[in-house]
Amino acid sequence: MSVTWQGNGRDGEARIGSLLTPHGPIPTPTFMPVGTRGTVKTVDAEDLERVGAQMVLANTYHLMLRPGSPTVSGLGELHGFMSWRGPILTDSGGYQVFSLEPDITEEGVAFRSSYDGSRVELTPETAVAVQEELGSDVAMILDVLIGLPASREDTIAAMERTLRWAKRALAAKTRSDRALWGIVQGGSDPDLRSRSAAETAELGFPGFGIGGLSVGETPAARNSAVEAVVPELPADAPRYVMGLGDTEGILDCVERGVDLFDCVLPTRLARHGKVLSRDGDFSMRRAEWADDDRPIDPDCDCVACRRYSRGYIRHLVATKEFLGPRLLSLHNLTYTLDLMKRTRLAIEQGRFQSFKEDVTRRRSDDFPA
Ligand SMILES: [Zn+2]
Repeated sequence: MSVTWQGNGRDGEARIGSLLTPHGPIPTPTFMPVGTRGTVKTVDAEDLERVGAQMVLANTYHLMLRPGSPTVSGLGELHGFMSWRGPILTDSGGYQVFSLEPDITEEGVAFRSSYDGSRVELTPETAVAVQEELGSDVAMILDVLIGLPASREDTIAAMERTLRWAKRALAAKTRSDRALWGIVQGGSDPDLRSRSAAETAELGFPGFGIGGLSVGETPAARNSAVEAVVPELPADAPRYVMGLGDTEGILDCVERGVDLFDCVLPTRLARHGKVLSRDGDFSMRRAEWADDDRPIDPDCDCVACRRYSRGYIRHLVATKEFLGPRLLSLHNLTYTLDLMKRTRLAIEQGRFQSFKEDVTRRRSDDFPA
């Protein structure tokens, strides 16, 4: 079987459902921790199970260069390689490649490997082939990204090329047991967004990424882009805002009918000593935590909060011990996945709006002493 989505209820535009994959069903809306090089930094597969991760994301660009998709395939594809039993989504690598200022032609992109400087080419077809070899449950098409700010002309050109590449990607697909999802582009112009969504949907993809968001646009611009896209997509297809993972952004998008998210934010912030919490996000470096024997968050049941004090974790962060980022990663992932669980429950019980208001208010109030 491939990957399908089944709706289980709605509250306004917010919706719950099950994503059915070859590696089991998972409830949506949900958040995918990012395992860039086949590892979610500082945490292992058992940790991911413990923090409640259901689906993880791996990065095509990094894995095709190191260790290479044939090696991953030989070690049992990504699931065997990472020893992760649940579903995996791979991004196409476009996001990383476009940050390397590649040569872009109608055929594809050519760039210098960030590992050894060698010249590498990626086309819509090879991006599909590499992801099929990696064996991810969901592969994403290679799309065309543009830097911000971008002119309307450049935005249209990137959007139209993404559509042409989407057709080529679909034609290159060979595995019927894996899914390939399209990506909607269109920058911050709602008209272009809705056109991109309608034309990508016409191509018949079973799921849709909404790309080019969470790149510094305002929340209002992001929300209006999502509002322009969602009505153009089939109601029974999963919708995935790529690269978004902050609490307020997730809730804004769930409210507008989005099912899936991914972001490096929980683990990246952890490596910078930052904590995500129901009372707002804060730095573990603050001097006031030095003698504090309370857990980071008394309501959290992650290992960092069950066993260790703020004073201890602050010490680990201040002395750059490896355990500091690890404990904070486990906490920040637990926080984010718990947010998704509470979101699903609120939708199921028809109280998403008041849930969203409560979460947002508590996080914006003064931090409790
Ligand atoms: Zn915790």
